Amino acid sequence: MDFAQAAGWIGTALILTAYAPQVWHLAKEKCTGGLSMVSWHLWLLGSLLLFVHAYARADAVIMAVQGVNLLAVGLTLYLAKKYEGKACTACQSRPTTTFK
Ligand SMILES: [Zn+2]
Repeated sequence: MDFAQAAGWIGTALILTAYAPQVWHLAKEKCTGGLSMVSWHLWLLGSLLLFVHAYARADAVIMAVQGVNLLAVGLTLYLAKKYEGKACTACQSRPTTTFK
């Protein structure tokens, strides 16, 4: 395994790890506070298209990272639908993010 391959697999592991806090909060607190469903659906579509691209080029690393993305985004969307409209007390008291 060369450096580029190692970097790709390490990046895949980091992406998987990055989803953990959001999925954990959704599952444990049953809270959808602050989730943008538009963003999560765009991530799902983007990951699906990138997976197709990687499959056509037989790029194992990109297929793996997009496979991880698809699973994590799919799980997030499933939990967000299941707990739609619910927010934990911490999220209810947080100010919402605005982009001005
Ligand atoms: Zn919350």
